[in-house]
Amino acid sequence: MINTSYDDLHEECGVFGIFGVNDAANLTYYGLHALQHRGQEGCGIVAVHERNFKRIKGEGLVTEIFNEKNLATIQGSAAIGHVRYSTTGGGGIENVQPFIFRHNTGDFALAHNGNLVNSNELSRYLQNRGSLFQSTSDSELLAHLIKKEHDASARIYNIIDALNMLEGAFAFLIMTGSRLYACRDKYGLRPLSIGKLNGGYVVSSETCAFDVIGAQFLRDVNPGEVVVFEQSGMTSYDYSQFKHHQLCAMEFIYFARPDSDLEGCNVHTFRKESGKLLYEESPAEADIVIGVPDSSMSAAIGYAEASGIPYEMGLIKNKYVGRTFIQPSQELREKGVRMKLSAVRSIVHNKRVVMIDDSLVRGTTSRRIVTLLREAGATAIHVRIASPPITHPCFYGVDTSTYDELMSAHKSTEHVRQLIGADSLSFLSEQALFTAGNRTQLCLACFTGNYPTTLYQSIRDANRDGKF
Ligand code: SF4
Repeated sequence: MINTSYDDLHEECGVFGIFGVNDAANLTYYGLHALQHRGQEGCGIVAVHERNFKRIKGEGLVTEIFNEKNLATIQGSAAIGHVRYSTTGGGGIENVQPFIFRHNTGDFALAHNGNLVNSNELSRYLQNRGSLFQSTSDSELLAHLIKKEHDASARIYNIIDALNMLEGAFAFLIMTGSRLYACRDKYGLRPLSIGKLNGGYVVSSETCAFDVIGAQFLRDVNPGEVVVFEQSGMTSYDYSQFKHHQLCAMEFIYFARPDSDLEGCNVHTFRKESGKLLYEESPAEADIVIGVPDSSMSAAIGYAEASGIPYEMGLIKNKYVGRTFIQPSQELREKGVRMKLSAVRSIVHNKRVVMIDDSLVRGTTSRRIVTLLREAGATAIHVRIASPPITHPCFYGVDTSTYDELMSAHKSTEHVRQLIGADSLSFLSEQALFTAGNRTQLCLACFTGNYPTTLYQSIRDANRDGKF
């Protein structure tokens, strides 16, 4: 795992695509490697050469699934790739993307990040029209919607019609024999950026994947936009006039890599600023500031700089605890934290510590870390969380758990403080997130319960039944 709130939060996926550049599959491999933090359960690449689609996919990390030998078998100047963490649709190889769809009007491949909130309704609608599904993925729904009419109109109009039927969060890449389409939801919930490379184009969930292959950032795909890449260049279509910029706040707080820029804001800079604001809102008297590695380090640096309290390396992460330590049960999760983190006794002993964490989900991690620090001799532990309390589940592709599992959903901050054993506990305000990002819109639904999209009864029921 690269992010380390230790099984509390998971991003669903990352997508990467390339058009008009030789050796597209190899470059996609490097792109996916840079996006590995967005999903570690499965990955795949599809490349197209002379309208012939070839794919490699499997359950595991990018370095486990691909090698020089198998990548050499998928040649072409266009490719799309995907890294997956499974929430909706569950695990299993049949849900590992990209998918390839065969059709008499031309084959196409599809990869997707996010989660549709009307997938049950769309699935029923399509099944009533005779569609049969191979997987439980939202991508397959889009493929069926694109092909539902069997008409001869240009594919872009079928795609636009299909996108207008989707409700939820998504970044879709669709690759045909001669084009690549990059589509982003009209709420702007999931990120998607465009880069240039050697006269061709790259598209990625995060800009950190551009740097690794030497691509230059061009711009973001706008909410409600489809960008088409073909031999003659790049064309933009607005599939919806409804456009919001409610990018998932958790991308800034936790998911995205610090070297990525999201809608013009560097992620490390956002986190550092949020740490500074956290100090202004909730100062503490302490000897050192420490951050929970890795995603809380930037906020901890910001808190230390603003407060003048020295930043120290009070917690060390064991980098070699792999995917096999992702344990599903609460009991095993609690044991797992010890294997992933250690307190540095010589640094925290006899010190009053401000411990910065990016978020508090189930509370398990915070409780264990506070215990670790006390055992290592810390005399006071002030926990500062660089986001507001998570009180509602996410329906947009982030596994924040059900209401019942969210520690702040039914408990006051004082009650949570007692449960995690801290001397004091404070959260960042919602307003500070806007200030840190220098923006006026963000999705904050898991903090506020104000969901930007319609929520359908079926998805509410799934949360109640613990399927989210
Ligand atoms: S509900 Fe929370 S995790 Fe989900 S998209 Fe919105 S901000 Fe992100």
